[in-house]
Amino acid sequence: MNINSLLRDNIRNLKAYSSARDEYKDVTDGMVFIDANENPFVSDVNRYPDPQQTKVKERISELKGITANQILLGNGSDEVLDLIFRAFCEPHQDNVITLPPTYGMYSVLANLNAIEIKEVLLNFDFEPDVERILEVKNDNSKLVFICSPNNPTANNFQAEKIEKLIKSFNGIVVIDEAYIDFSKQESWLSRLSEFPNLIITQTLSKAYGLAGIRLGICFASEEIITVLNKIKPPYNVNQLTQDKALERLNSIKEVEKEVSQILKERQRLIIALEAITIVEKVYPSDANFLLVRVDDANKRYQQLIEKGIVVRNRTNQPLCKNCLRFTIGTSVENEKLIKSLKVLL
Ligand code: PMP
Repeated sequence: MNINSLLRDNIRNLKAYSSARDEYKDVTDGMVFIDANENPFVSDVNRYPDPQQTKVKERISELKGITANQILLGNGSDEVLDLIFRAFCEPHQDNVITLPPTYGMYSVLANLNAIEIKEVLLNFDFEPDVERILEVKNDNSKLVFICSPNNPTANNFQAEKIEKLIKSFNGIVVIDEAYIDFSKQESWLSRLSEFPNLIITQTLSKAYGLAGIRLGICFASEEIITVLNKIKPPYNVNQLTQDKALERLNSIKEVEKEVSQILKERQRLIIALEAITIVEKVYPSDANFLLVRVDDANKRYQQLIEKGIVVRNRTNQPLCKNCLRFTIGTSVENEKLIKSLKVLL
């Protein structure tokens, strides 16, 4: 696969902005830095942050077993996804394939970038219809978005289906693994080196408990990462985010403890929900949320708000009629949800 030929012409020829810290990287004590028009009075944040987030990437590299030059960090995975659009999709010409019901930002970003969306619905088991995707694609299909575990359906997609797609699609396959830490399935990171057209995104917003700092991670071949690096804003990950991310990545035991508590609560919540009259189906989950079909989603959504519980109403999504999405909360929060659902008339 020739990645270079998939790029937009302007991106292929783009010369990246060269920041002060790109031009002189060797920051050691005692040196005078008067190259970046910063305020010289020292605080935690008077200097621009490292544009390459070297320390954070080194730690992610250790944890995930992927070399740092195959990692790009962004202001949330939403920024990473936008960079992928801007690298590969020519406005008013190219198209991308999404598999609804899925994460809504893929289509928002497509619209923002003036890119046509070809939608191929998941089947009734919430699995991708690979044959149909391959029928629908054309020479201008640059990206296909696979969200696994998928939001809002909560399931992993079958590995054989994803593999077939990666091998048969002659564009880029983006696997969004925002919820992978809650899944029993292994991350596709272990197979990244097999597929030059594979991009994997992850985030510190879910299992790592850092939605507020906005740190998204992109893993791909060095060739793709080099291109994304050219087009990212120079200082897209701020200093406070880099500090906080590093601290958390160095406390991985705590993260694991929280994930295992969430998984226990998920199991407890599934059992409790299945015994509630208004609940018609609890879908299997590989994520930190449950998709639950109730008798009347709009009515139950409103009633829960009146009881001080805000859930996500997914009833208008394809294949999700009368479905609500519940994030797994603390045991106290989950108990409140169960009690409230039990008494709804
Ligand atoms: N991907 C999926 C599937 C998501 O559900 C979300 C957030 N809800 C994101 C990406 C966005 O993650 P981030 O906070 O890193 O922008």
